[in-house]
Amino acid sequence: MSAMEDLFALQDEDVLTGQLKYRKARLPEADAVVAAESARVQISSEVADLRIERLDHARRQNRFEGEVAAVEARLAELDKRLYGSAITSPKEATTLQNEIASLRRRQNDLEGQVLEIMELVEPFDARLEELAVASDAADEAIAAALVALAEVEVVIAGELAESATRREAAVGSLPADVLARYQQSLPSFGSSTVVRFSGADCSGCPYSMPSMEADRVKGLAAGTLADCSECGRLVVC
Ligand SMILES: [Zn+2]
Repeated sequence: MSAMEDLFALQDEDVLTGQLKYRKARLPEADAVVAAESARVQISSEVADLRIERLDHARRQNRFEGEVAAVEARLAELDKRLYGSAITSPKEATTLQNEIASLRRRQNDLEGQVLEIMELVEPFDARLEELAVASDAADEAIAAALVALAEVEVVIAGELAESATRREAAVGSLPADVLARYQQSLPSFGSSTVVRFSGADCSGCPYSMPSMEADRVKGLAAGTLADCSECGRLVVC
């Protein structure tokens, strides 16, 4: 390979490496991981909110159930007294009956409250079950997205390594001064740092090369590296 071909090979590898790095930084597979993780976070946050609300209802339910148990205990005690032999007067029996009736109303009321809470909680539990399923699915989606990302990253890393090897080979046989000129111009011209002389024009120039400059370059030996006086690119004759 001639030095000029090596120079083009070097530029090709720099372009390819740049493209691969650009691609690596903007992988749709990475976006998919972010999206899957964000979906998972949303699910977790909804679960956390529902659990807090659910816990609040459960505490109220516990409190009412505790009160129901206390009322039932008191009723059992009063029943025992009413039907036992300790009653001394009809008035005492009436007082007991009134208290029993009032406690039964309280019991009904409390039990109604408990039922209400249970009904209220039902959709929470249904939604929490749905979210548990969705959460498993989200975990699987994250795992799959990570695998897909890792796969494409491995491919790109391999391509970058291959490109680096080819670049090294190209650099290895380039004269130091040519390499230095290339490196110096690279930041300004990127993928068109070295261009071919079309026979009449610098193919990197946005405008036509002045005819005097074209004639000068035309007069150089094939394979010579010239500087375009118009755009500053390296022109291979
Ligand atoms: Zn030019």
